[in-house]
Amino acid sequence: MSDTGEWKQKYRDSLIEMEAEETRWRHTEQVLRRLVGRLCAAGMGVNPQLDDELMALAAANRRNADTDELGRLAESLTTTVVAVDAVSPVPTITFPTDTHTRLAIKSLLDRLPAGNGTGSIAQALVTELATAKNDAALAGIVRRTADLIHEHGARLAQERLQSAAILGKVTERLGEMAGYLSDANQANRSHFEDTQSHSDTVLSQVRALTDEVGSASELSVLQSLVNARLERVSEHISGFRAREAIRLQEFKGRTEQMRARIAELERETGELHSQLDREKQGARLDPLTGVANRKSFEEHLSSQLAKQSGGEPAVVMLLWDIDNFKVINDSYGHRAGDRVLQSVAGCFLAAMRGSDFVARIGGEEFVMLLTGTKIAPALLIANEVRSAVEALRFHFRGTPVRVTVSCGLAELQQNDAAGTVFDRADSALYRAKQAGKNLCVAA
Ligand code: GH3
Ligand code: MG
Ligand code: MG
Repeated sequence: MSDTGEWKQKYRDSLIEMEAEETRWRHTEQVLRRLVGRLCAAGMGVNPQLDDELMALAAANRRNADTDELGRLAESLTTTVVAVDAVSPVPTITFPTDTHTRLAIKSLLDRLPAGNGTGSIAQALVTELATAKNDAALAGIVRRTADLIHEHGARLAQERLQSAAILGKVTERLGEMAGYLSDANQANRSHFEDTQSHSDTVLSQVRALTDEVGSASELSVLQSLVNARLERVSEHISGFRAREAIRLQEFKGRTEQMRARIAELERETGELHSQLDREKQGARLDPLTGVANRKSFEEHLSSQLAKQSGGEPAVVMLLWDIDNFKVINDSYGHRAGDRVLQSVAGCFLAAMRGSDFVARIGGEEFVMLLTGTKIAPALLIANEVRSAVEALRFHFRGTPVRVTVSCGLAELQQNDAAGTVFDRADSALYRAKQAGKNLCVAA
């Protein structure tokens, strides 16, 4: 190859290498950006000042800000972290001093275990307890506490029943295995006894032979005596071997059966465990679309509201409703409607980031909770989702069908009750419908 050819080849090779390197870096950058987003979300709620910094960093990260800007934000975050560390106030909820009842209810709520969303609801009730203004409000809290305890009790009873069923199965299998073991023991004992009697017989033959040899006077008599004794010993040994072979065969069969039973037991236990997991998970998901269900949403909202009173960063509720869904159902059938619900849910899921949340709370109504976002950026996201749904292409019986959604947005406020923020989002959704649908409106 000429000098120029060699030079060109080298140039091409290094170009290819640089391109590969650039692709690797771009991938690394994406991973790092996702990581920054998650870390920002995870760090929210420790301190309001820190939250502002984290929100700014998360927003810059989302719009792919350059390294200079990210560097500045990271430096500012470091300064704030150092300052916050130096002070680190412990947030507390203070109660009016007038009432022992409040403290008694609080201690009751504090004693409820945190699992299954109970913790977040209990936490929200403790917060409400501190601000309840009159007996009626207090009575409401007591009623909801009683409901919570009742639900917790019912859940425990259910779990106990399921555990009892599993234990019953396991005990049954263990009983079978104990049976095998006792059979094996029995076989071992008979093997031991047979071996003992075998060696006794051989020994007595040898002893008798020794006596006979001592008293025999002729070689020919001695020869026939020895032959007869050896014949008997050898017959005995063959019999013993044959019995041993049968015993070994039986033992192998039993061991094989036991091994198969143990494998079956392991599989059954595994299946029972995954069935329990599925049931637990299934109770929180909407079976049609796979997103969270209404119950799960209520728990999640309570926990977000409880954090709000602790000075958490902004959370925006997006209430979605599919436009003219009844017409789709009536014109193309319920199954077509179900397919629309699934695809629309897919658009909502695709928009999720970090600790965002989406649930189907009714027929064709969905709700999202976007965390670490104020109303203006949330409105931009909502419009992106709305356009994504509008861009879905459905064909039923050969006819293209346009599907659109409307959205009402409301930001969670301190001391909001679940119903209050929902009503604000619902009124905004109503306005979106009134204004012609396929719209997103902020409260
Ligand atoms: P708007 O634009 O004002 O929201 O009108 P709409 O037709 O979407 O609202 P409407 O409340 O009148 O109708 C909702 C329909 O949703 C009625 C009901 O048959 C249907 N629906 C509710 N749940 C399901 C479901 O699980 N699957 C299907 N296919 N349809 C459902
Ligand atoms: Mg509706
Ligand atoms: Mg509708």
